[in-house]
Amino acid sequence: MKTRVVVLGAGFGGLELTTMLSAAISERVDLTLIDRNDSFVFGYSKLDVMFGHQTPDAVHVPYRHIVKPGVSFRQETITAIDPEARRVTTGAGTYDADVLVVALGADYDLEATPGLSEGGNEFYSIAGAVRLRDVIPAFSKGRAIVGVTSTPFKCPPAPSEAALLLHDHLKTRGVREGCEISLVMPFGAPIPPSPDTSRALLEAFRERGINWVPNRLVRALDPARRVAILDDESEMPYDLFLGIPRHRVPDVVAQSGMTEDGWIPVNPLTLETRFPGIYAVGDVTSVGTPKAGVFAEGAARVVAGEIIAAIERGAQPPGYDGRGFCYIEFGAGRVGSVEVQFLSGQPPTGTYYGASVALAAEKKEFGASRRARWFGSNGGS
Ligand SMILES: Cc1cc2nc3c(=O)[nH]c(=O)nc-3n(C[C@H](O)[C@H](O)[C@H](O)COP(=O)(O)OP(=O)(O)OC[C@H]3O[C@@H](n4cnc5c(N)ncnc54)[C@H](O)[C@@H]3O)c2cc1C
Repeated sequence: MKTRVVVLGAGFGGLELTTMLSAAISERVDLTLIDRNDSFVFGYSKLDVMFGHQTPDAVHVPYRHIVKPGVSFRQETITAIDPEARRVTTGAGTYDADVLVVALGADYDLEATPGLSEGGNEFYSIAGAVRLRDVIPAFSKGRAIVGVTSTPFKCPPAPSEAALLLHDHLKTRGVREGCEISLVMPFGAPIPPSPDTSRALLEAFRERGINWVPNRLVRALDPARRVAILDDESEMPYDLFLGIPRHRVPDVVAQSGMTEDGWIPVNPLTLETRFPGIYAVGDVTSVGTPKAGVFAEGAARVVAGEIIAAIERGAQPPGYDGRGFCYIEFGAGRVGSVEVQFLSGQPPTGTYYGASVALAAEKKEFGASRRARWFGSNGGS
């Protein structure tokens, strides 16, 4: 009898898990991967799309390219998860699992920030990034704010990257002098676990005249008066608002009874939920690492190791080490990097690698290697 493994969500976590299980034990598992979309998009591609560096078509990697032994991909919307029965319902049917892995990521709640939909923009969804392709080129004068509206949020360096790339874009168009850029963040430093990375970013903001507003969230926008209202009730006027919306688990996860305080709690070493035979990886969890693709991928590798060990009756793999790295766009074709480690019960630590053209090439290779591994030798193109 093959083990029925059902993986919910074909993002960073789901794709890595599926790839590892297929490579190691395809003949022993019946693996179903379910996602509502027809294609995958790297989170960082949204920055490329919003500034017109890439077309939306170019950043979508179609799931139809997934041809892996033992794996069947279903493009279906998951409508219910019954964790007691390990049964999943979609718009097209039901799936019973021996092992269930929830990798459904985080959704956005724009309505949680009054005025954001009417008077601002977000760049965290692909639809928001596509809309900004027309909005940003029309901004030539006035005040721009990149603002975080709540925590936690995906990819903590992304707001800093958006501010730096906006500077580049305005400079290239010759309109930077007539524009102000402010960055509103809920932390005292851009990347709290890594003082060196924070210092490099603060220096980059200073050199480029970007106004850094620490320890604040944007609570609301007043579109009529064109002001952002911060969590201390102070106000900042704006002509262009680029927001990071409130994050939450997808509705189907919220309704499943698996969450506590908004996210799925897991054992930080094994990624097991409190339901037997059910794991959760990536942004949908409260494991304590940043909500970023590399961490979802690392967690998926641990879960794959555990499923393989259980099926093959092998040794238990080492626990999740909470280690990951993020690339940081500094503009002008240069990319920095920060390697961080989040171990349960200890303060996180981080190491900074200075921005360079070489790291920009490494980031490209990072994307290309995932495309090749997850989607086959043609990399989904
Ligand atoms: C602007 C920006 C820049 C970023 N830059 C980086 C970076 O440089 N490096 C990095 O590591 N991370 C980066 N990230 C973060 C990264 O994209 C996410 O953290 C990562 O994708 C999380 O992986 P995941 O597997 O948990 O979820 P996801 O990759 O979000 O996958 C979840 C999947 O579940 C599917 N799904 C959800 N609900 C349903 C449903 N009801 N039915 C069916 N399918 C469903 C979705 O369609 C999606 O494909 C960035 C994010 C943003 C927004």
